[in-house]
Amino acid sequence: MHATLELLEVTDFPPLQHARVETLQINLGYRCNQQCVHCHVNAGPRRKESMSHETARDIIDYLQQSDIKTLDITGGAPEMNPHFRELVLAAKKMDIHVIDRCNLTILEEPDQTDLAKFLAANEVEITASLPCYLAENVDKQRGNGVFETSIRALKNLNALGYGQKNSELLLNLVFNPQGPVLPPPQDSLEKAYKEHLWETHQIVFDQLYTITNMPIQRFGSMLISKGQFDSYLALLRNAYHEQNLANVMCLNLISIDWQGYVYDCDFNQMLDLPLRYGSQPRTHISQLKGKNLAGLPVVTKDHCYGCTAGQGSSCGGALN
Ligand code: SF4
Ligand code: SF4
Repeated sequence: MHATLELLEVTDFPPLQHARVETLQINLGYRCNQQCVHCHVNAGPRRKESMSHETARDIIDYLQQSDIKTLDITGGAPEMNPHFRELVLAAKKMDIHVIDRCNLTILEEPDQTDLAKFLAANEVEITASLPCYLAENVDKQRGNGVFETSIRALKNLNALGYGQKNSELLLNLVFNPQGPVLPPPQDSLEKAYKEHLWETHQIVFDQLYTITNMPIQRFGSMLISKGQFDSYLALLRNAYHEQNLANVMCLNLISIDWQGYVYDCDFNQMLDLPLRYGSQPRTHISQLKGKNLAGLPVVTKDHCYGCTAGQGSSCGGALN
């Protein structure tokens, strides 16, 4: 069992049920060109887990018989998976909107020099981590030189039309706190990001998403080793806001791991808490073709308080 899962096991978090599933979030594996401190999937260059072609085909088959409106692709660095582009092209053919959770530095890797153009040509929305607009803070969390590379990549994306006014090419940035605190208000931080990035680098973008750090995986282990796990969980619980419950992302989303198994959300995937469907311990995406999940209970534990604390948190930023 995950060290953090044991600590999250007993919960009084309110029960949740899936509604209509409109977003399919797929994790293409844990390989990444970076190795960030807060990474909730423990991704890095040495990880071997990567989605196979067969599983990518299962996902395309599922999409063909579903009401999915958005395919949200994550990793690791999802672009390192050899089937990333096939999935994007297949979704595009079905008029499904695609989001690439991009770490920006991947756009500068020698074997990915045409990636930005591919994303632009297929109108892929880019959601990119930039945990601060100051170099020192980004490099501390994501590694030396990451800020400078990210700025270059953002300029390149702007030049292709990303983040520009009236452009279809959406470019969003993601902020997550450096330590065990809640993110500041999203609107005012977005304003500060926009002003600073424009004044110092002439960079534009669409929205800033503030995301609460989940007490799981690498961040969870860091909290345990510093003796801050209980106090961080208490912080999340004390900041509970009931109105966030109606908007938590698991209501309209399911998450698929690199092997094709299904979870209520990305965080449950990382905690190895599979979707409860029928009597089987795990459900594969190939078993859900044409199935309606509305009304199915969501597996909740204490980490769910990370979604409802303060202004709320999801892969699309604050909830209120
Ligand atoms: S770039 Fe993203 S996936 Fe890669 S290590 Fe950092 S947080 Fe994890
Ligand atoms: S952690 Fe996952 S299951 Fe729990 S409330 Fe958030 S999205 Fe839903």
